[in-house]
Amino acid sequence: MALSGVQIFKLLPKTNCKKCGHPTCLAFAMKLAQRQVSLDLCPDVSEEAKKVLGEASAPPIRSVTLGAGDKAVKMGEETVLFRHDKTFVNQCAFAVEVKDTMSADEINAVVDQVLGSEIERVGQKLRIDAIFVSNASGDAGKFEAAVKAIAAKAPEVPLILSTTNPAAAEASVKAVAANKPLLYGANKSNVDAMASVAKTHKVSLGVAAEDLDGLTELTDKIKELGVEDMVLDSGARTAKEIMRDNTYIRRAALKKGNKSVGYPVITFAQRDDVMLETLIASLGVMKYASIIVMSSIDRWKSLALFTLRQNIYTNPQVPLQVKQDIYKLGTPTSDAPLLITSNFSLTYFIVSGEIEGSKVPVRLAVLDTEGLSVLTGWAAGKFTAAKIAQFIQESGIEKEISHKELIIPGYVAILSGSIEDKLPGWKITVGPREANGLPAFLKARTN
Ligand code: SF4
Repeated sequence: MALSGVQIFKLLPKTNCKKCGHPTCLAFAMKLAQRQVSLDLCPDVSEEAKKVLGEASAPPIRSVTLGAGDKAVKMGEETVLFRHDKTFVNQCAFAVEVKDTMSADEINAVVDQVLGSEIERVGQKLRIDAIFVSNASGDAGKFEAAVKAIAAKAPEVPLILSTTNPAAAEASVKAVAANKPLLYGANKSNVDAMASVAKTHKVSLGVAAEDLDGLTELTDKIKELGVEDMVLDSGARTAKEIMRDNTYIRRAALKKGNKSVGYPVITFAQRDDVMLETLIASLGVMKYASIIVMSSIDRWKSLALFTLRQNIYTNPQVPLQVKQDIYKLGTPTSDAPLLITSNFSLTYFIVSGEIEGSKVPVRLAVLDTEGLSVLTGWAAGKFTAAKIAQFIQESGIEKEISHKELIIPGYVAILSGSIEDKLPGWKITVGPREANGLPAFLKARTN
């Protein structure tokens, strides 16, 4: 159960020495209670207090990592129910199911899809994160062979090994233990054996229950058996059940300090109807799933889900930003227009979308305004004549283009004179106020 600030204060040295960077022990205790600081900041805390506070200050949802290496996926550590309260921390992983009854060609085709799924959007690499290998055949040898074949072809892709057969679990986990797969399939009838496999090979364990009560009994038992890293499946399969159970689990972990459900959640979205499957997966993105398993990953589906996930898991206090640079849109020649805008991603996407729609090749200078739009950036002193001039001068663009004309957004027409003062020899042209005026503006210049 989470401790209050006053309860934590009673366990601190109470010397107000300020070594933790806080004026008093009470101030530090209040921050600890809100999980805004780490106990490590106090060098004088006693071992006994550390034990009590360490437990109490642990994240309400345990951090569990799926896979190893660069493509490993960190899950859990969430602290809020609603994104606007603070931020969601570790974005959910998308996994696609491969059955060990599929032919080698079919398995290879899915693995190729996973390997080719990565796209870059607003500076982030987005991909299908994992492969869920299911022991549909019920045969331990077939399962192990499928797992080995996938791991050989895609060694960096995290795997979820789904079986309720402890012998199949042992063989397959042993084969890829170094890749830190998630072993999924511990239930009330196999829990001892599955926990033993997970413990022996130091991998996390997916716990499959029929309801929430059954889930807490299982996680408590598995913890007693010495396995700390778990992923929860409450048995929810319909949209209504997923919404209900995932919300109960998150709420119980955060608001009630219920450690039995303080783990990441796996949600199964597989449906014959791909549109319905995408909708269920979307529900998982929004409502607390850490892993979402799907039966297929057509491009349209993954792009839609990537975008939703990116929107849900960005920090609402930090706007999405594009890297400061000069971007080529189309294939601009040296005399192509040079425009400038801010690095707020929405601004960039709207402006670049309108330019691309115009089919006029241009260079688009994107100034770092810390994610503010042009007008807000100007008001906040981030989109100023001095910053624009410095950016243009330091970019080296003068060597790349055959003119010295910069087109600025109409909203900051007021800056044109001062930019010309700071960029001697340059002509500043005022473009349209709204991005949707750009196609006509650019086409008129080429006529
Ligand atoms: S470092 Fe520890 S003892 Fe010193 S003020 Fe902070 S909490 Fe109190």
